[in-house]
Amino acid sequence: MQTLLLSASDSKTAAAAANLIMNGQLVAIPTETVYGLGANGLDEAAVAKIFEAKGRPQDNPLILHISGPEQIELFCHHIPQKAYDLAEAFWPGPLTIVLPAKDIVPKRTTGGLSTVAVRCPDCDVTREIIRLSGVPIAAPSANISGKPSTTTAEHVRHDHDGKIAAIVDGGSCRVGVESTIVDLTEARPRLLRPGGVTPEQLLEVLGDLVVDKAVTAQIDKDEVVKAPGMKYRHYAPSEPVVIVSGSREKAAEYIRSHFEPGDRVLCFEEELPLYEGCDPLSYGKEADVNTLSAGLFAALRELDDPSIHQVYARCPVGGGVAYAVQNRLKKAAAFHIVDAEEEA
Ligand code: AMP
Ligand code: MG
Repeated sequence: MQTLLLSASDSKTAAAAANLIMNGQLVAIPTETVYGLGANGLDEAAVAKIFEAKGRPQDNPLILHISGPEQIELFCHHIPQKAYDLAEAFWPGPLTIVLPAKDIVPKRTTGGLSTVAVRCPDCDVTREIIRLSGVPIAAPSANISGKPSTTTAEHVRHDHDGKIAAIVDGGSCRVGVESTIVDLTEARPRLLRPGGVTPEQLLEVLGDLVVDKAVTAQIDKDEVVKAPGMKYRHYAPSEPVVIVSGSREKAAEYIRSHFEPGDRVLCFEEELPLYEGCDPLSYGKEADVNTLSAGLFAALRELDDPSIHQVYARCPVGGGVAYAVQNRLKKAAAFHIVDAEEEA
């Protein structure tokens, strides 16, 4: 199959992409978080193609992308006021809400769960595609399963050229990490995945938030978890990644003394001079965490190279968006962290 490359700025793109979605085809869509691999979320056969193209485990549910809060009740029931409060505060935007699913949502979309995840993305062309197709678009990140997520149309082309009907090119994703996921199906709201909407912002609206274990620790393959996606190896380049924590100087001392030919260093832009001779790659500025979230996956993709032996990575500290960057980098490193302060 020839994969069409459609520009988001072309006025015919939304209608062409919506037509493909209505015909049960796969279309990669830009969003402010990452590129999604989209299909009609109500069509089991179309959704099955997403799992096949990504090599995604069947029990890993998809997010339904909708065009606005008024669509929540089409696909969910027992909707608490908190869901509308979150939608009002953060939609369109990088927040996904998990609610009880109506029967209209196929089990293939929900990975067999009785709940469904919904989100309204902050991307005009994608909301227009949803509106024109008349269906919710089920879309996980468009990467091959387990690999770093796709934040440009080129990343999607690399992973899926010839296997999907079209890619809508909307440029680089502004946020760069997947949406924050909040589960509202229990007595207390639960954070299943951190993202561009921060825990601090959620607390302001919800007044209460439990952080799921999967956010902070490695989950065993057989463990039952709230967000099944969180138990799989994720975001990882082909070689091992180790996070080196501690001060700039102590970390550089540790990394430089352990560095061997074939290793790489993933660091902040401010640290590049400390790693001269170690072929460092910067993913953004430590002083501006949004550049780190926007640049992380492109950097991890660049480091996904069998000739690399090991990656030493620097990770931002603190809350806000840094919390999401920590989560993705720790998963990419399979929670392998060395404290340079202790090692010194
Ligand atoms: P991706 O956007 O590729 O990371 O995939 C969607 C993410 O949403 C996965 O981590 C899923 O586990 C999570 N997700 C989707 N639906 C649900 C649901 N009903 N309950 C909990 N997590 C969900
Ligand atoms: Mg994903």
